[in-house]
Amino acid sequence: MKLFDIPAVTESASASRGGRVFRKASDMVPSKPFDYSHVQKWAPDADFTDLASFYPVAGEKQGVIPQEQLLALYEKYLHLWLEKMPTSKKLQDAGRKNMLWGIFGSYQKDWETPVLPFSKHCDGGKLWDVDDNEYIDLQFSDTPSMFGHGASNPAIKAAAESLLTTGIDPMMGTADQAIAAAELEKHFKLPVWMHALTASDSNRYLLSIARCVTGRPNIAIPNFTYHGTIDETQKMMPEPGVISRYHEMPQYYAEVDHGTKIFTWNDLESLEECLKDGSVAVVMMEPIMSNFGWAWPQEGWHEGVRALTEKYGTLLCYDETHTLGYDWNGAAGVMGLEYDMWSCGKAISSGIPGAVFGMAREIADQLEKWQHEAGFFAGAGLGFLGNALTGNTMSTVALRVTMQEVMIPSVFEEIHAKAQFVHDGMTATFEKYGAPFRSEIMGNRLCFHFISDRAHDPLTGIAQIGFGGLFEFAHAYMWYNGLLIMPFFNMVLVCPQHTQEDLDKYLAVFDDMIAIIMGQKQG
Ligand code: PMP
Repeated sequence: MKLFDIPAVTESASASRGGRVFRKASDMVPSKPFDYSHVQKWAPDADFTDLASFYPVAGEKQGVIPQEQLLALYEKYLHLWLEKMPTSKKLQDAGRKNMLWGIFGSYQKDWETPVLPFSKHCDGGKLWDVDDNEYIDLQFSDTPSMFGHGASNPAIKAAAESLLTTGIDPMMGTADQAIAAAELEKHFKLPVWMHALTASDSNRYLLSIARCVTGRPNIAIPNFTYHGTIDETQKMMPEPGVISRYHEMPQYYAEVDHGTKIFTWNDLESLEECLKDGSVAVVMMEPIMSNFGWAWPQEGWHEGVRALTEKYGTLLCYDETHTLGYDWNGAAGVMGLEYDMWSCGKAISSGIPGAVFGMAREIADQLEKWQHEAGFFAGAGLGFLGNALTGNTMSTVALRVTMQEVMIPSVFEEIHAKAQFVHDGMTATFEKYGAPFRSEIMGNRLCFHFISDRAHDPLTGIAQIGFGGLFEFAHAYMWYNGLLIMPFFNMVLVCPQHTQEDLDKYLAVFDDMIAIIMGQKQG
C-alpha cells in the first residue's frame, strides 16, 4: 500500500548527493555561503549523515585515551546500568504491542538507549525508577520540570490543589489569568499575552500573527535552530544553497523551503540577504542557541539583528524556552534585548503543560482589527491562536505561581550560587587533569564541552558534544552512577531543591569520569 504520494523530483530540479535527492540551490538562503571553518578545526571529517564523525580530534585532545577504549568503556557501563533495570526492560517489551518502539512520547524515545528507563516517581531534584534505583535528576525532561518535581515546587502544589477544587477547564475567564498576564509583562516587558500549551504552539501562533499583521509570506530562522514541531522551523541548510527538512522525509525533498528563509547565526550579512526583499514577516531565534550544543552570540550580533529587522520592517521574536533559567527575567532581560514578540513553554508553568506568547501593543491592535474584519473565519474554534485546553485553570494557576513565587530574584540567587558551584567544580576538574575541555553556564543550565574554546556557531556546538566516544562514555558512566544527565547532549540543570550533597556527588562522579577519560584512572 502506498501511504504517501511522493512528488517525483525531476533531474533538472534536483541534484543527487550521497544517494539523497536534494533540490538545487534555493533562493530562500543567502547567496553568501556559510563558513564551516570553525567546526573543521575541531572535526575535519564532520558529516551530517554520521554524527560520530563530529568527534573532536587533533592536538586538542591530548591526553585523552583512544577512541576505541572510550567506546569499550561505554559498552561496559551501559551494560552495568541496564543490568540494574530489569523491570524497565519488561515494561518496554510488553509495551511494544501497542506503542511504537514500546514508547508513548517522542521525547522518551530520545534516550536512544537499548532499554528505556521507566520512572516510578520524582520529587524535588530526585527520581526513582521502577527498579527502585535512585537518581539525582539533572535533565528534568529537557527543561520543563527544572524548578523541581512535585509538592516542593509551589506552582505544582497550587496547580494540583486547583485541579481538585476549581476544575480544569471551565472555558471561561478566571481571575488568575489577568494576574498571570500582568506578571508576564513585569518579567518580559511585552504588554499583551496569550496562552498556549506547548512552546511549539506558542511559536506557531506567533508566526501566524506575524504573517497576518505584516502581510508578508516568509519567516526567517538561523541555520540549525530548533523551535518545536513546526513545519516551517524544522528546516536547515545542510550545505550552502540547500534547504532540507530535519527528518528528511522523502515527500519534503522537493519543496522544503516554502515559507522559510535561513540565515547564518552571528552573520549579519547573511541575515540582511534574507531580509532585503521585504518578504520576511518575522525573524525567530533564541538569545543564545541552545540546541545542537550551544552557540553564543558574538559581540554586537543582537543589536545588529534588531537594527536590520527595523530597517526592513520585519518583526523580531525571541524564543526563550531554553534560556528562561538564565534569570528571573530570562536571557533577553539580562542581555537587554529589544524585541516585538516573545515566546516560552516548558518550565514557564513549572512543567504543568503550558506556554505563553507575548507581543507589542501595536501588533495586538492590528491583530484585533484583522480578527474583526475576518469575522467568522478568524474564530478561535478554527484554531488560529489556540485550542480547547489553552487558558485552562490548572495551567494558568501554575503559570501565575511560577511567576510570583519561583521565577523571582531571591530564588534565582540561590540557583545561581548552586550552578556556579558546579561550574567552578567542573572547571577545577579540567585543570586538575589537564583536560582540554570547558564548562559553560547559562543561569541554571550547565554544559560540559569536549573542546576548549567557546562555540559561536552551531556546528562547533555539535563538535563539542563529543559524539563518537566521549559523549557515549560520559552518559553511560553518569547514568550508571545515579546521575540523570540529558540523553542527547552534555547538559545539566540545577533546580532549587538540589542539596549540597547532590552537587557534591555530581562533582565527585564527574571528577572520576574525567580522570578515566584522561587515562589517569582505571575505568
Ligand atoms: N523552542 C525551543 C528553543 C526548544 O528547545 C523547544 C524544545 N526543545 C521548543 C521550542 C519546543 O518545545 P515543546 O516541545 O514544548 O513544544
